[in-house]
Amino acid sequence: MVSKLKTLGISTIADLLYYFPFRYEDYSEIFCIENLQENKQCTIKVRIDLIQNRRSRNRRMNITEAMVSDETGSLRVVWFNQPYMAKTLEVGDWIYLSGEVKGDYSFQMINPIYEKIKTESDFNTTRNTGRLLSVYPLTRGVSSKQLRSFIHTALKNVTKFKDFLPPETVHKYKLPDLAASLKEIHFPKTKISLKKAENRFKFEELFLLQLHGNRIRHKLAQLETPLIEFKENSTKGFVKSLPYTLTAEQKKSAWEILQDMQREQKPMNRLLEGDVGSGKTVVAALAMLNVLENDFDSVLLAPTEILAEQHYKGLRKLLADIPNINIVLFTRTNKYIVNTSEDESIKLTKKKMLEYLNNDEKKIIIGTHSLIQDDVNFRKAALIIVDEQHRFGVKQRESIKERTGLDDGLYPHFLAMTATPIPRSLALTVYGDLDISIIDELPPGRKVIESQLIDSNNKMVAYDLIKQEVQAGRQIFAVAPLIDESDKLGVKSVTALHAELTDVFPQYNIEILHGKIKAKEKAAIMERMLNNEIHILVSTSVIEVGIDIQNATVMMIEGAERFGLAQLHQFRGRVGRGDAQSYCLIIPTEKISERLELFVKSNNGFELAEYDLKLRGPGDVFGTAQSGLLSLKIAKLTDTAIIKVAREAAENIINSDPNLIRYPRLLEKLNKFLDLDALQ
Ligand code: ADP
Ligand code: MG
Repeated sequence: MVSKLKTLGISTIADLLYYFPFRYEDYSEIFCIENLQENKQCTIKVRIDLIQNRRSRNRRMNITEAMVSDETGSLRVVWFNQPYMAKTLEVGDWIYLSGEVKGDYSFQMINPIYEKIKTESDFNTTRNTGRLLSVYPLTRGVSSKQLRSFIHTALKNVTKFKDFLPPETVHKYKLPDLAASLKEIHFPKTKISLKKAENRFKFEELFLLQLHGNRIRHKLAQLETPLIEFKENSTKGFVKSLPYTLTAEQKKSAWEILQDMQREQKPMNRLLEGDVGSGKTVVAALAMLNVLENDFDSVLLAPTEILAEQHYKGLRKLLADIPNINIVLFTRTNKYIVNTSEDESIKLTKKKMLEYLNNDEKKIIIGTHSLIQDDVNFRKAALIIVDEQHRFGVKQRESIKERTGLDDGLYPHFLAMTATPIPRSLALTVYGDLDISIIDELPPGRKVIESQLIDSNNKMVAYDLIKQEVQAGRQIFAVAPLIDESDKLGVKSVTALHAELTDVFPQYNIEILHGKIKAKEKAAIMERMLNNEIHILVSTSVIEVGIDIQNATVMMIEGAERFGLAQLHQFRGRVGRGDAQSYCLIIPTEKISERLELFVKSNNGFELAEYDLKLRGPGDVFGTAQSGLLSLKIAKLTDTAIIKVAREAAENIINSDPNLIRYPRLLEKLNKFLDLDALQ
């Protein structure tokens, strides 16, 4: 049993007590036999009049039959293959039975849960029936009934169990007592008292989360950082050189970033959020330019080589009019530098590149994450930007800190950029340590992408559109959820979709892209796509982030129901990047759901994310890779009222005792909480 409990993550009494039910069954209403309702979970309080075992007709099964009664009538009860029932229960025993009542001619209860009533006053202390009944997430070999029994025993000593919450917090927010709440969450008396207990434990989790964010915030506030003075002239010159005017939201975000860096203490730790195509790159460029003008370097990290190269090309163009800026591309496959005054890319060996990075020229370095894993050292990197990621991990930060080349004790500025439309409320909860800038508007003049739901039995509509667009010289993206056909029946794969499209359009060049293809080959495919040598690119979700092919006008998504709305929105953002009208074709495998109907109606990433957050939880908003960090056991990110209180409480504690010296138990709990979580 100990090992079984271990697989549930329970190795201490505390683990056991904090192993919360994931739902409750409401057996709290006691029925009289005459009022029993068919097919409904009911609890009755009855006396056993008769109980016996027999074999089934084919002799394979043991059947325990009992007749029970109360003052209103009697009822037949049957247990299958539980012969010990006849030994445990005796004629004359009073018991509670909970279960569903069925029957065509006369009612009977099959395999009900039972509990003996020892005395009349036992009523409120029953564990398994006659009440709101806890149901636990289980593993094989441990039943809810067993867990209830263990927990019941553990609860006997619960008053010895010390609360980790600071007493003043408990007092100030009138939180219910820990021991009482633990009893209540496992053996609730009423729905109202249960709610109170649940809220207390939600508070605990959200408080820890907020505490974590606040603690990082507070630590950062003590650190020294390179002061990046705002260079008005160069900034104005750069903005003037752009072929467009910045949107108000871009200006606001850029201003927030520049303000953050204009400090000698408290390095920037900011998340820049903006829908696909909202123009985050130019905001980043503005920040990098100012860093350069202060004689420091900037580093921009991209999630893939394709995106790193895209940024390299894009920034070259963007900064072309600013003389004497060295832009470096550093990926495993390619290492280039270009100086904007000479405008000629030079390819270097790795050795030469590593030397070059350390010479005394100012530079913008663009690369993949290999840049901060290899033996790379920078000259003076004051600003680190990570694209398409929500935040820097602790390890990443450490690795970067070691190689910045900044004077001792100086900590670089950090900026994360993401197109995932994380609602502000959610971001504030999960990323309590980050400041947030949101670009909540697209540059003017963008054509709205026309989105359509298409029945998978009627794909001619899609093919016609694809044909029309290819004939007009445009390119197509087609996305499927899987690489190969698998046992996940009916889900479209990239291979199958490729075969199908090749069948329909034998004259087109149709290629495949997915995560298992080598980086070099991937880059070559993207290069061909950019050069308009591919008509249709069939891909898995690797196409999701950042790819910028202005000539692509159709995004067709098969098996669309398998993607979160935020993710679908990312796919949609791969088209409509040029001037031409673009289309997004949503093809669900089965029936058309309300979610997908909303998707084709709404072009607002934040709206879609909010919707999925309510409907499907945060995993879909954040993507699976980062959903681990949301492994809250009981709190929901939609518990806004509690979040607010927890944030205030955490701020108070950190302000009065930033290192939690007066709260050793809280500190221990916090560290454990973070260990369990991927928040690091
Ligand atoms: P994302 O936020 O998705 O990274 P990008 O920075 O790649 O978006 O910008 C998308 C496109 O919008 C680019 O082609 C860029 O040149 C263009 N762009 C950016 N800002 C503006 C603006 N203010 N007006 C018009 N076009 C803009
Ligand atoms: Mg981008």
